[in-house]
Amino acid sequence: MEASLTARDRVGIQDFVLLDPHTSESAFLDNLRKRFHENLIYTYIGTLLVSVNPYKELDIYSKKQMDTYMGVNFFELPPHIYALADNVFRTMQSEFNNHFILISGESGAGKTEASKKILQFYAVSCPSTKLLNNVRDRLLLSNPVLEAFGNAKTLKNDNSSRFGKYMDIQFDHQGGAVGGHILSYLLEKSRVVHQNHGERNFHIFYQLVEGGEEDLLRWLGLERNCKNYRYLVQGDCAKVSSINDKSDWKTVRKALSVIEFSESDTEHLFGIIASVLHLGNIKFDVDARGYATLNNNQEICWGFLIRLKPKQRSPFSVDHAVYARDALAKAIYGRTFNWLVNKINESLANKDSSRKTVIGLLDIYGFEVFSVNSFEQFCINYCNEKLQQLFIELTLKSEQEEYEMEGIEWEPVPYFNNKIICDLVEEKFRGIISLLDEECLRPGEATDITFLEKMEEKIGGHPHFVTHKLGDQKTRKTLDRGDFRLLHYAGEVTYCSDLLDYYSFPVIFKVMRQSKNAIIKHCFPSTEPDSKRRPETVVTQFKSSLVGLTEILMSKEPWYVRCIKPNEAKQPGHFNDVLVRHQVKYLGLMEHLRVRRAGFAYRRKYEIFLQRYKPLCPDTWPNWKGTAAEGVQLLIKHLGYKPDEYKMGRTKIFIRHPRTLFATEDAFQVC
Ligand code: ADP
Ligand code: MG
Repeated sequence: MEASLTARDRVGIQDFVLLDPHTSESAFLDNLRKRFHENLIYTYIGTLLVSVNPYKELDIYSKKQMDTYMGVNFFELPPHIYALADNVFRTMQSEFNNHFILISGESGAGKTEASKKILQFYAVSCPSTKLLNNVRDRLLLSNPVLEAFGNAKTLKNDNSSRFGKYMDIQFDHQGGAVGGHILSYLLEKSRVVHQNHGERNFHIFYQLVEGGEEDLLRWLGLERNCKNYRYLVQGDCAKVSSINDKSDWKTVRKALSVIEFSESDTEHLFGIIASVLHLGNIKFDVDARGYATLNNNQEICWGFLIRLKPKQRSPFSVDHAVYARDALAKAIYGRTFNWLVNKINESLANKDSSRKTVIGLLDIYGFEVFSVNSFEQFCINYCNEKLQQLFIELTLKSEQEEYEMEGIEWEPVPYFNNKIICDLVEEKFRGIISLLDEECLRPGEATDITFLEKMEEKIGGHPHFVTHKLGDQKTRKTLDRGDFRLLHYAGEVTYCSDLLDYYSFPVIFKVMRQSKNAIIKHCFPSTEPDSKRRPETVVTQFKSSLVGLTEILMSKEPWYVRCIKPNEAKQPGHFNDVLVRHQVKYLGLMEHLRVRRAGFAYRRKYEIFLQRYKPLCPDTWPNWKGTAAEGVQLLIKHLGYKPDEYKMGRTKIFIRHPRTLFATEDAFQVC
């Protein structure tokens, strides 16, 4: 026996498809762990990329590395995010079609870093001209701006994206990046007014206070001390060692000028950020009638900043007034964020109308389970159900259906279809969202409990829905009366039922409309439906935006990056088996592997395959007269394909491994 480990033992296998056909979850984990300890964070399952967060800088993202991966066949080099990016790009170029890369994983797993690496790869590797450089810079610089306004320190990640992001990169015929477009999803607005212990508000607030120029701060009436602002210190950690707010401020300033923000835009923008901070510091007194009043000149201060006329008074109790103040802060910030995304989109927009192809990057929150799960987790987990459904439709289901249609012998791979859970949430008239909407229509009457009772009445029998009343004895012990539990595809989550839409304060919103601040004016248009009409609830808006996203994605070819978080401590070198095993499970990696292994990596219509490769075979070149299928048969016989390397379907040839095709493609390039 050899004493020393072979290279394969040490570094594992770079494509799970090549592991023993009866790979267990443990063997899967062993391979990931081995590679992780060798700093090999990337592993393939066919063309899907698995990435494990190294929590340290690796020397694998240099320009030299990019050059190495550019234009090289996918499986010829060690797995890399650049290999995937390059493969998507070249497929788009040769087939003139649209693609998207879905990057998923839990918070802190490395999604946002992965999406930035892909964008950087395109920025460097795509053909460029002076004009295109301009677009490229804007594409790259939109990131620090969006991160400043949309990311925050959480317990799981010091730079956690608190919104979902889908970004289209548009390419012209030559493969130059000519434009882009960003869609954002469900910004976590509650963070503006409240942060849990050890967490911060959005980065931009601290950047402004720490890094803002003296003149600017004076004009905004801000002091250079985060501790003075109630909205900044709820989590008691304004300073974070891994974050340099001062230098990040400079980056954001510069980025704003590149993406064409005018002086007055930035002035208005920071005016709003400062106003939110002032707003948070407002205190209320009680007047003789028990109503809230403002006790000093504070309101003039923020009123001046967002340039409001002296405010209108409304008879609120103090509790009500505090609630309204926070609701207003959240509304202002949320709408400003949307304005920002639109503004960036204007700067990325490509005006020429020639045909373009796109690569979409989807960096979106992963499945979340906390001890208390509320409205935001409900939306996030619903989003994950939708994406899992998309994955099933585009990959598992469509793949298996195609084999069946083509008459390819095939042992079906069992998988759990989560459509039943999507329906439970979104079905018209009886899904949870519909029921929630109905309750929101009865302000004053509806409560958490009436909502819960309504759900029990309408969906009580559903196998994925449980409440205290409906559960068995064991369930009752773990479930409060006010809660309900959903059995998601990735596991059980208990939600508190206070999902009802927040009260709205039409009076305040009316005041906002009179603002002189251009951004605020834009964000609170006077055409807004007033309180008499039924406004769309937040959850319904979210549902519509997800339906829109699904439509965008369904028309494109999917690619996947699955990110894994190796430990909870954000430490390099630690691989927590229990934690990783759980992620492998809910990311559906074993299912994906089974389908991949049983399946075929490549398939093409006989006509297309023959058309391209017929020069390689004297029997088919130049004038083949028979059917395309017969021609392909001759062609592959000539090329020496072995029987287990391919299958002939009704209309297509199926090739098991991409290597076989690459060899053919190489021969074609030479001839
Ligand atoms: P997510 O978007 O999934 O929540 P991030 O992409 O923000 O997670 O990653 C969290 C942190 O992990 C990053 O700030 C960085 O410190 C580290 N990290 C992630 N990916 C890498 C990588 N490829 N190389 C080095 N560090 C990484
Ligand atoms: Mg992120």
